Amino acid sequence: MIRYLAPHLRIESVLDLGIEQIRALGLQALVLDVDCTLKRYCTSICTPEITAWVKELLDADLRVCLVSNGREPRISRFAEGLGVPYVARAFKPLPLGIQTAMRRLGVQQRETAMVGDQLFADIMAGRLAGVYTILVRPIQPEEEPWFTRLKRRPEAVLLRWMKTASPTPLRDLQPHGQNPACAP
Ligand SMILES: [Mg+2]
Repeated sequence: MIRYLAPHLRIESVLDLGIEQIRALGLQALVLDVDCTLKRYCTSICTPEITAWVKELLDADLRVCLVSNGREPRISRFAEGLGVPYVARAFKPLPLGIQTAMRRLGVQQRETAMVGDQLFADIMAGRLAGVYTILVRPIQPEEEPWFTRLKRRPEAVLLRWMKTASPTPLRDLQPHGQNPACAP
């Protein structure tokens, strides 16, 4: 069970993921959560930094798709602003949204990473889909609805416990499947 909640990699922000690190992991595609990963929950606006980061990935021929449990109109507007495809109402932790995203992007499991802020949604969905998983620190989680905030305490306990299995520094990353710290 715990294997399905353990991210392969933990970072502060998606902005820490440069082209070099993504390539070092052997990844071709990032499947991105939206709320508290790319933006604050209470805004529909994308910061210039995130917009520039996504553009940089696309310019480097990396593929990007948003996968969110949020509703269609809100997520589609956000995705349009970034110029990337999306899957709304994904029902994470079910893996279906990520599988749909991979089909849409034309990529395989081993070259895909799910990046998100929640163990019980993003990381579990990514693990179930068989892709690499990257946990980011949530952006202003205090703005989230109560049902999401309920999950933060057990998440924090698990994360403290998992800290003992030291996260891999970005510079030591190896292609997906070859990283000793990453149980397949
Ligand atoms: Mg989120």
